[in-house]
Amino acid sequence: MSVVDEQTTQPCPECGAEMRMDPRFTTWCTECDWNVDPDAPEEGSGRFEKARRARAHRDGERLHTRMGDAESAGGGGRLSLILVHAIACAVHAVTVVLTAVAAWCVVRGWGGLGVLLGLVLLLLAWTLRPRLSRLPQGGHVLGRDDAPALYDVIDEVADVAGTRGVDLVVVDAEINASVTSCGLRGRRVLTLGLPLWEMLGSQQRIALLGHELGHFSNGDTRRGLVVGTAYHSLLTWRYYLAPTADPTPVEMVVNLVYLVPRLLIRAVLLTLDRLTSGVHRRGEYLADSFAGRAGSTEAAADLMDKLLVAESAATTMRREANRPRAGRRRPGTATEGADNLWAVLAADVESIPDHEYERRRRVGAARGHCVDSSHPPTHLRRERLLAAAPVPAAVVMSDESERRISGELAGVRRLVAEGILRDGIDG
Ligand SMILES: [Zn+2]
Ligand SMILES: [Zn+2]
Repeated sequence: MSVVDEQTTQPCPECGAEMRMDPRFTTWCTECDWNVDPDAPEEGSGRFEKARRARAHRDGERLHTRMGDAESAGGGGRLSLILVHAIACAVHAVTVVLTAVAAWCVVRGWGGLGVLLGLVLLLLAWTLRPRLSRLPQGGHVLGRDDAPALYDVIDEVADVAGTRGVDLVVVDAEINASVTSCGLRGRRVLTLGLPLWEMLGSQQRIALLGHELGHFSNGDTRRGLVVGTAYHSLLTWRYYLAPTADPTPVEMVVNLVYLVPRLLIRAVLLTLDRLTSGVHRRGEYLADSFAGRAGSTEAAADLMDKLLVAESAATTMRREANRPRAGRRRPGTATEGADNLWAVLAADVESIPDHEYERRRRVGAARGHCVDSSHPPTHLRRERLLAAAPVPAAVVMSDESERRISGELAGVRRLVAEGILRDGIDG
C-alpha cells in the first residue's frame, strides 16, 4: 500500500516558493498557481467563444450570489421555472392538437383522402408523443427486501427532505448518483454509483442521500419529466424539418417552406436550453441544502470534496483494471481482486493530500462556469454550504445500520467490482 509520507519539496520555477511533491499528483505552486491546471481544456479564442464563456461565468456568479442570499429560488428563478413549464406545455399542446386534427380528418373521411391524411398526421403525432423514462439500464436492482436497512435509512433521510422514499435502488459502477421518476406511476428510482458510495464516510453517505432525495422534494424529477419529454418532441421536429443537402429544385422549395418553422424550433430549443440550465443549477444548490440538513453541513462539504477528486478515484480503478492479468487468472483470485478493489479505492482516496484538494478547487475556480455544464462548479457548491450557518445532522448513521447496509451490499459490491476489473471504467 502506498504511504503518504513520500512527499518531498522542490522550488517553484516561477516564484521560488517551496512546492510539496507527491509522485501520484500534479506538482503545483500554492503561491503563484504555477502548473495548477496542466490539463486545462483548449479554449476557443474567437470573439464568440469568449463572449459565451464570459456570459456563462457572469450567470454562474450571479446565481451563486443569489443562492447565497436566500435559501429559496429568487424571483428571477421562479420566472424561469414558469417559462420552462409554459414552453414544455405548449410543445405538448401542439402534439395534442395534431392528434385531434388527425382524428377529425379520419372521421370526416373526404372520400378516403381525409383518412389517408389523418393517418399520416396520427403517425407524426405518435412519434412526437411524450415518452416516459424507463428503468435505468446496466445496473443491479435492489428491492426493499434485498436491502431493508438501506431503504430504512433512505426513508429516514426522505423524511428530513419532506418527501417519501424511493421505490427502487439501482447500483451501478459510476462515480455518481442520481434520481429519476419512471413509468406512468412515477416510480422513484435512486441510482447509486458504488465507487462513489465506497469513497464516502457514513455521514457523507447520508449527505449524498439527502442531496438526491432533495431533488424529489424540489420537484426536479417531475419537471424533468415534463420538460425532458417536450425536449424530445422538439428534437423530433427539428429532425423532420432539417434541410435536405444538395437539394433538387423541388427540395429547394421544401427547404424554403420549412425555413420559418425550422428557425422557430431552433429559437425555442435555445431558449429552453438557456432557461433549464439555470433552473437545473438552482435545483442542485437547493438539493445541497438538503444534503447539509440530513448529514450535517460538515459532511455535505466533505461530500463536495470527494466529488472534486472523483477523477483520482477513476484513475485508481483504471489502474486496478489494467493491472497485469496473470495473477488474477489463478482460480479464486478474481474474487480476491474484486474484494480488494474497494479497499484499494478507499485507501487511495483517504491518502489524497490536502494540496490536491486545494488544487482541484483552484482549477474549478480558474476554469469557471462551464458553459455546457448543468451543474454549478463543485467548489462554489462547497463554498455556499460553508458560508451558511452550520447545521447538525438530522440523520445519524449508526454502526449497526452501517454494518447491516454493508452486508446488504456485499453481493453487488462483488458484481460491480468484477465488472470494473473486467471492462474498466468510462470517462
Ligand atoms: Zn510559484
Ligand atoms: Zn443533484
